[in-house]
Amino acid sequence: MENRYKMRLMAVTIGTLAALSIFITVRYRRRRRSQKCPSSSCYLQGDHCQNQKKPQHAFKRVLADNSYSPFKHLKKLHDSPNENDLNSHPYEAEITALLDNPGLEFSFINEFTDLKMSETYTWVETETQLKELVDVLSKERVFSVDTEQHSLRSFLGFTALIQISTQKEDYLVDTIALHDAMSIIRPVFADPSICKVFHGSDNDILWLQRDFHIYVVNLFDTAKACEVLSKPQKSLAYLLETYCGVTTNKLLQREDWRQRPLSNEMVQYARIDAHYLLYIANCLIAELKQQENEISCPDDKFHFVLEASRRSNMTCLQLYTKDVEGFPGESAASSLSSRHLNGQGGVSSNFETKFPDLVRRLCAWRDLMARLHDESLRYVLSDQAIVALADRAPMTTTEVCNTINQADLNVDLSFHSFLPSPSPVVCSHLDDVCSLLQYKIGNLNDIFPMIIQKCLGPSGSCPISIYNYALLINCNLKLEFVSKQNGVKSSKQVAKKASRDLFVQKFSCKSPVYHNCRIYANDGRLLCYCDQRKLEWYLRRDLAKIVDDNPPAIMLLFEPKGRPEDEDNDFYIQSKKNICVGCGEGSHYLRYRIIPSCYRMHFPEHMKSHRSHDIVLVCVDCHEVAHASAEKYKKQIAAEFGIPLFVRKVADLKQVQVMSGSSESETNLEEGVSPLQLRTAAMALLRHGPRMPSKRRDELTQIVMSYYGGREISEVDLEKALLVGMSPHERRRLEKKKGLSFKPSAVSILPNVEQENNNGSTVTSGIVETSEVTTLDDSQSTKAEARGRKEDRETGADVGDSSVCADSGINEEVSFTFKENVKPDKNGVSDINGVLLINSNDNCESRSPSNRIVDLYHTEYDGTAQPKHHPKLSLLGHGPHGKQVVDHLLKEYGEDGIRQFSQRWRQVFVEAVHPRFLPAGWDVMHSGRRDFGEYSVYNPAKKTSAPIQS
Ligand code: AMP
Ligand code: MN
Ligand code: ZN
Repeated sequence: MENRYKMRLMAVTIGTLAALSIFITVRYRRRRRSQKCPSSSCYLQGDHCQNQKKPQHAFKRVLADNSYSPFKHLKKLHDSPNENDLNSHPYEAEITALLDNPGLEFSFINEFTDLKMSETYTWVETETQLKELVDVLSKERVFSVDTEQHSLRSFLGFTALIQISTQKEDYLVDTIALHDAMSIIRPVFADPSICKVFHGSDNDILWLQRDFHIYVVNLFDTAKACEVLSKPQKSLAYLLETYCGVTTNKLLQREDWRQRPLSNEMVQYARIDAHYLLYIANCLIAELKQQENEISCPDDKFHFVLEASRRSNMTCLQLYTKDVEGFPGESAASSLSSRHLNGQGGVSSNFETKFPDLVRRLCAWRDLMARLHDESLRYVLSDQAIVALADRAPMTTTEVCNTINQADLNVDLSFHSFLPSPSPVVCSHLDDVCSLLQYKIGNLNDIFPMIIQKCLGPSGSCPISIYNYALLINCNLKLEFVSKQNGVKSSKQVAKKASRDLFVQKFSCKSPVYHNCRIYANDGRLLCYCDQRKLEWYLRRDLAKIVDDNPPAIMLLFEPKGRPEDEDNDFYIQSKKNICVGCGEGSHYLRYRIIPSCYRMHFPEHMKSHRSHDIVLVCVDCHEVAHASAEKYKKQIAAEFGIPLFVRKVADLKQVQVMSGSSESETNLEEGVSPLQLRTAAMALLRHGPRMPSKRRDELTQIVMSYYGGREISEVDLEKALLVGMSPHERRRLEKKKGLSFKPSAVSILPNVEQENNNGSTVTSGIVETSEVTTLDDSQSTKAEARGRKEDRETGADVGDSSVCADSGINEEVSFTFKENVKPDKNGVSDINGVLLINSNDNCESRSPSNRIVDLYHTEYDGTAQPKHHPKLSLLGHGPHGKQVVDHLLKEYGEDGIRQFSQRWRQVFVEAVHPRFLPAGWDVMHSGRRDFGEYSVYNPAKKTSAPIQS
């Protein structure tokens, strides 16, 4: 009968397939509604509706309920009871202790155990089994973890599975069955002596807090290690292939992880996500240690391993928070409205004024319904359906259903296409939707009491669960709560604040930067402000006498070469405040270089002199703004001059020469194999070649072959390939270690280009060890710095040189930027480098040996000069870009070009930060003609051309 009906239908309907499916859907809906679900009855009620029972209904304790009230974090037993700050991290002290002093050895696998996954694994679904697992884990020094979530049929989502692997065994913990017992496992996660290995843990960390109050202390995140190593990719799939020769189908992460039993495929996928992590972590740690040994000087260790560990543990400081909105659905509404109105202009058939209001109503309704029924927003009503409803404002229930169905048909054919449209939630509350659209409810605030009334309890239509009830009792408070919004921080704000505080604490200047000591000429005229050390330098040499104590001042006993007034620049005779030049913040500040060092380090010596003018103090917030605008402007410069920021790929030795010559060779280079790709492929083949799937082995072999011009390759070729792209120093070390010996000409001499990130946008290599950063504080001088100062003194730098002797406080600074946590894409496509992004390319220049001015890229590119500098800098900066830009400017416009270039950077800074507290005399057009004293290293005798006054 149904078949006959369908056939008749097809015969009658000449319309398109789309029209047909709408018809069928409407029929389906009608059938549903004409069956046993009257529109006033909730789809959740009774078992006649196709909805399987939702597993979360069996959860006894739900930490993150669907109410609008904030998430309550774990309170430890001995936490002070009066502390009503819900947003403090219960293990902050433990995590911070690890940040300060990781003090752990990082060796995750003792001997080379069998990589292969065994046939068996342990399914953990009872409390007893969970306790047994905890017993096992508490005896381990390390285990790996991953989680799978379900988010479609739940408002906040929940953890459906936790995978845990030790070296011996894979465990799959059924966190649906064990939802209320999971606290048993908390202690091992919080135990600082047990390292937990995750990959891309940002979300897992928050999910574990949300569902189980599980807090991770002592984390090693393999994705963070990839960042520190500047891997070209950091997805787990990439690591699995590279290190283990294992392929994984990431599409499975979208499976419905609530199902039991899990399919074999899902079990396999879930196990893979945790099983290989220990091995991968071990490989990455070996590489980190190798970098540490090869790239750092013995007396100035650069701690790659600790950096990876630090970035990992910073992730643990994140706190789960519910998103807070001023009004339910508000943020979705405003983004939908603006997207639609921007995109479509006046196409909307609805009044433009009515459209945003309808979107707002529908989003509020959807938000409330999703919370009440514990469904995701998408499940209740799609974004495109909201736009369509607001656009067309259908009046009847049938029209409403058609509109929704059509909107869902038009878009979203992929993942959600199997979802019922309109959703059962819409179908069972159709009248409400109509009332909303018809403005039967005038005031939006009245929606909530009405809807709740209709849903509530025995007289209402929806079976209300315990947490939905929580929502209801909070709902009355909501309007008040909305008006108090200013005091409530969104999740992002809270996470950002935590990172920011830590950043400030760790990296801001620890003592005033400007000492505001004064130097007078022997006729009593003020020459400049400077720091204490400068005064002492003159005093020790009997070149000056003290004329004031507080703040100290000296008078020179000789006639200085230049006078500030003569130079028509009074900037240097201003005392400077120790505050942010942007906003005036005085509690903390960092130095910021207005002209990025990647350029400035290549300026002619005598043009680098305006250091105190172009290095300013800023707070972390202004620093972030300034840094972001500078990074953007660099890209503009790159485009303007046709000089790319990053050299992307290197084909082989012949092309290297082309590359060192000009920037035009970029296209050639794009086709080559990057040294990293080459080395990684060679390494994987050497280590795991015989055990790899043949397809993968062929792929990797192809990569290596293409480097060798397509010829067959031998084992020796593979070994040689391991050295490609390494500095001579790095190669010597590797050779020594392996007992290999090659003629230097056999391999290309290239700087290590691993710092280059795929999309060339973010500096990934700015790793500055904490101890180095703290040298910002003058009182914490290191040996290296002391030596640096000694050198300065011996060369008599800056004497009688009024601008250099200004109080710049810039002898050993590094600069960096603060960045809020960004959740990485699970597919690993994020290019965000963790909580702290250190602005490495602003860190290339300093006069201390620990941070010497170098030109690594060029000494190595021409393949002749030996690197005479700190090798660590091979990781920093944009390679040849800075030098090429400066060379270009000098060639085309001479020093005026450099001056104008500097002015452009000052302009960029001013436009980004709108500084209100710049010292008097600070000027975008600043040129400050320089004259050099007889003691100065910049003495004219040493120069080839005299500075030109602009
Ligand atoms: P994974 O560890 O990569 O398997 O991801 C863990 C969980 O994150 C999965 O169970 C999904 O719930 C969720 N997830 C990650 N990426 C996606 C995605 N692209 N689409 C849908 N869900 C995802
Ligand atoms: Mn997973
Ligand atoms: Zn500021």
